[in-house]
Amino acid sequence: MTASSDIARRRAALMDTIGDIARQAGRKPSDITLVAVSKRQSDARIDAALTAGQRVFGENRVQEAQARWQDRRGHWPDLELRLIGPLQTNKAAEAVALFDVIETLDRDKLARALRKEMDAQGRTPRLFVQVNTGEEEQKSGVLPAQTAGFVARMREQYGFDIDGLMCIPPVEEPAGLHFALLAKLAAETGLARLSMGMSADFGTAVSLGATSVRVGTALFGSREN
Ligand SMILES: *Cc1c(COP(=O)(O)O)cnc(C)c1O
Repeated sequence: MTASSDIARRRAALMDTIGDIARQAGRKPSDITLVAVSKRQSDARIDAALTAGQRVFGENRVQEAQARWQDRRGHWPDLELRLIGPLQTNKAAEAVALFDVIETLDRDKLARALRKEMDAQGRTPRLFVQVNTGEEEQKSGVLPAQTAGFVARMREQYGFDIDGLMCIPPVEEPAGLHFALLAKLAAETGLARLSMGMSADFGTAVSLGATSVRVGTALFGSREN
């Protein structure tokens, strides 16, 4: 059991830690957004996070996110929802309708689908390009060497105003190497935002320039199923 007071307390502690590490790195705590990853968490926990003041949430599946957030949106108008999982082109319409930020743009086919839906719906979710920093076979994301070209194409060919880069490092490698690589790629492409760091390594990410960290279990407790 995770009581709602636990979530409020953990959230406060996380924000303190993020603030401390930011200051140590010469950064402003307010430059880092805590994204609460709510996938596979209970309604009670999510409502506890909302009551504690959390407004930015990350989800990795479109349908699950719709079920969880469509009604809550009405109650919490200042909510910000971020898609942090892979997006199939046949879910582009739902994703554009629901999310404020899509962090997993990684291929032209998806760019075409998003452009079409954004024009049709008149909604413009902010976009991050996902980079496969570990060059893992099974993982989504553009390869590091192709990132600059991909970002340029997103801007020129699709008219996207790319917000930043996102990565999920390989589990078995020190995350810091991947965060540093993502920061370097962002600097080279003129992007100011970096989505990197999860429960186990958000501190490292903040010290290496993360502007948002995606934290699930360290805030909510372990996930269901
Ligand atoms: C699940 C998930 C997270 C959160 O992971 P925790 O270890 O629970 O903090 C962060 N980012 C992505 C892309 C995820 O899928």
